[in-house]
Amino acid sequence: MKAFADISGGRLEATEYDNNFADIKPPLTTLQAQVESARCLFCYDAPCITACPTGIDIPGFIRGINTGNIDGAAHTILTSNILGASCARICPVEILCEQACVRSHEQECRPVLIGQLQQHAMDHRRDKSAQPASRAPSTGKRIAIIGSGPAGLSAAWHLAIKGHDAIIFEAADKPGGLNTYGIARYKLSQETVDEEIEYLMGIGGIELHCETAIGQDISLSELRREYDAVFIAAGLQAVNYLNIEGEDSDAICNAVDYIAELRQSHELAKLPVGRRVVVIGAGNTAVDIATQSRQLGAEEVSMVYRRGPQHMSATDHEQHVAKDHGVTLRYHARPARILHNHDAMTGVEFERTHTDDQGNLSGTGEYYTLPADMVFKATGQTFIPEPFTDGETLQLSKGRIHVDDQFRTSLTHVYAGGDCVDRDDDLAVVAVQHGKLAAQAIDLDLKAQEGQ
Ligand SMILES: Cc1cc2nc3c(=O)[nH]c(=O)nc-3n(C[C@H](O)[C@H](O)[C@H](O)COP(=O)(O)OP(=O)(O)OC[C@H]3O[C@@H](n4cnc5c(N)ncnc54)[C@H](O)[C@@H]3O)c2cc1C
Ligand code: SF4
Repeated sequence: MKAFADISGGRLEATEYDNNFADIKPPLTTLQAQVESARCLFCYDAPCITACPTGIDIPGFIRGINTGNIDGAAHTILTSNILGASCARICPVEILCEQACVRSHEQECRPVLIGQLQQHAMDHRRDKSAQPASRAPSTGKRIAIIGSGPAGLSAAWHLAIKGHDAIIFEAADKPGGLNTYGIARYKLSQETVDEEIEYLMGIGGIELHCETAIGQDISLSELRREYDAVFIAAGLQAVNYLNIEGEDSDAICNAVDYIAELRQSHELAKLPVGRRVVVIGAGNTAVDIATQSRQLGAEEVSMVYRRGPQHMSATDHEQHVAKDHGVTLRYHARPARILHNHDAMTGVEFERTHTDDQGNLSGTGEYYTLPADMVFKATGQTFIPEPFTDGETLQLSKGRIHVDDQFRTSLTHVYAGGDCVDRDDDLAVVAVQHGKLAAQAIDLDLKAQEGQ
């Protein structure tokens, strides 16, 4: 992260940091879980199952909680989603299972709290090492996995239960991908991430090599020669540019880089944070950095978006989280330039925008300035293909790796899933499902080759 010579942190009392970064959703007590589980109607053809990207048998695990069979509930969750502990905390349930819940209508005001019940089952299972499946006898097949985020970890576990060996190569010094370096600290603790990784590696047959970057330390073609298959789960690595004057200023920071630092920091008071922070962007990353800037002691935080609230990719729930933390959401404006007085940033000049009936955006020629001493860019991330383009080139579409419905890429024996592919939403639970489905496809393809 940049040095931010003129910006300091540490404006809060130690207890304020602890309170601000405490779990945003306090866990349910046993009694609360019991009462909440009784609200489930155990629907036939439950729409919540269809809305879950990993297809968890939601009424099935809720019935387990309701009858006091917490281990059975956890087993049901883990059978479909081996990262059920982290997904319970970070899934945007308000646009997935809880949105689909039949209790989510006006008279009842709210759906069954599926996410919190899932967290309850995962936290209260008695044997935290029990696996939902056992490992098949070794096949002798070795599959290389690039990246240890939700997609890579899920693929590794699902390959391991089929009896294959999964060898994960991770560029970072710790595994977990964005679960370790991206998700907001108030949603997911590092302890939960570490426990989950240790748990799923407990199945056996999974090797993890951190600080090993494909394209730098080993090439994709070497992996293709040495392994029976390769699964690319490298996520997105680059942050989009704003292309405005003053963008190289020291007081402009990529939100994702800053969040990575924040996630791993043991001394939050030492993190530099401006008094007047401007966040440019409208997705969940923008909400996360805006909210966490407030939690770190920023006095004024504005999130600025070039279109209206209905076009923001952050969910309504996330927008409310930001507002509840005192973030001001400003719409219909785009950054024009960063303003400085000598070396110090003084603000950002914005141009008001207009969106016509066809959705085309244009500047109005009217400008205003927001005072700021720190700016975060949260304008989306992109896939960098270069590490994976030695020798033959991977076919891309929409700037990401193109895969077929079996997660096969254009290169033989090379599969891909998670954020780096050209399908589905960029969500942890979707990446988990991609890893699961790709592992099943790899297993079937390897068996088909054996049979030839
Ligand atoms: C700030 C932020 C907040 C988010 N919040 C949420 C949320 O609250 N809920 C939610 O569901 N989703 C959230 N997401 C999205 C979610 O984190 C991703 O969809 C998910 O992590 C994708 O998983 P993945 O395994 O595809 O990639 P990643 O988690 O990005 O993991 C990819 C891994 O590959 C490694 N890698 C990359 N290149 C190489 C290489 N050349 N060699 C070796 N290793 C490599 C990376 O170091 C990384 O560890 C958030 C994303 C961001 C950026
Ligand atoms: S839709 Fe709601 S009420 Fe019906 S099974 Fe799912 S959680 Fe229970």
